[in-house]
Amino acid sequence: MKAIAIVPHTKTIQLIDRDEPKITTATQVKVKVRQVGICGTDREEVSGGRADAPPGEKMLIIGHEVLGVVVQVGEAVKSLKPQDLVVIMVRRPCSECEMCKKGCSDMCETGNYTERGIKQRHGFHQEFVIDEEKYMILVPPALAGTAVLTEPTTVVEKAIDHACRLQVARLPVDPDPKKWLHGKTVLVAGLGPIGLLAAMVLRLRGANVIGMDIVDPHTLRPKILEAMGGKYVVGKEGALRGHTFDLILEAAGIPKLDFQLPQFLATNGVYVLTGVTAEGPPLSVDAAKLMRDLVLKNQIIFGSVNAGVAHFKQAVLDLEAAEKNWRGVVQQLITSKTPFNRFADALEKRKPDEIKAIIEWS
Ligand SMILES: [Zn+2]
Ligand SMILES: [Zn+2]
Repeated sequence: MKAIAIVPHTKTIQLIDRDEPKITTATQVKVKVRQVGICGTDREEVSGGRADAPPGEKMLIIGHEVLGVVVQVGEAVKSLKPQDLVVIMVRRPCSECEMCKKGCSDMCETGNYTERGIKQRHGFHQEFVIDEEKYMILVPPALAGTAVLTEPTTVVEKAIDHACRLQVARLPVDPDPKKWLHGKTVLVAGLGPIGLLAAMVLRLRGANVIGMDIVDPHTLRPKILEAMGGKYVVGKEGALRGHTFDLILEAAGIPKLDFQLPQFLATNGVYVLTGVTAEGPPLSVDAAKLMRDLVLKNQIIFGSVNAGVAHFKQAVLDLEAAEKNWRGVVQQLITSKTPFNRFADALEKRKPDEIKAIIEWS
């Protein structure tokens, strides 16, 4: 069978032949891969950036945003059967830290976790994959068109869930974290796939959402945001003057912007960062004002990465709810579908109007 593999830390990327994997334990599931989404991490990997092959191997099969169909299950598998649609979790525990031992590898403390398609484990750009039942999330057939967006949705599910949990833990409000956002004013900074999926989740929770980016208001990103009831602002000097936000979700990965946003955070507000910033020159910031406001306004700034199993399940529920509320809108995030044998077209360069590019395997 075919697979897309790289030699980590080089620009070598090729379609390779390898043996079709076989189920070897009673709890494994074999999946025929349908679609794999491409994100900034994949582009970083193929351009020679962060990626690690499995121990003892030279190549890494990439891809971590997968949708597939079950073709075979081990005899102890209870929750899945052939023909079921599934998405597969990315991170695997380190076996050393308390977080991983308790099933929260997304909060791993040692950094010795592994990740499919990224760190020491082969990914999903291959015709068939095998994994444990516990890392697979069942997807309803109605989501066949959008479920490839589940993994990026989990990133925002975790960020939003943790922001809401922090708030209900410290404020005299309804203790249900899902209710905290109702009627709140939220800024989403950066309307790539992560920002737009964040806007989707936030609108589903009843928040008033302002999305900020630098694209023309008549292009697809603002249109998707507006179709879900969000409001678009073009990110230029003075664009947010007079606004304050109960929650700011950063999905741009631009350090200068990251440090400008806290001035728009309301008293008791929370600011969560999800963008991974590239290296750059040091910045000059008004640190005294930033720190003073954090204290005097009871504000929280925190970062969030990866996601746990509950966030995967919530992502599937929210993609389903979004499809009911705004039929066909979320699907517009998928701006290109490329057959696997033409992978270079999609993986090596990002098209200017791209939101989410996917590779089709079957
Ligand atoms: Zn990704
Ligand atoms: Zn760990």
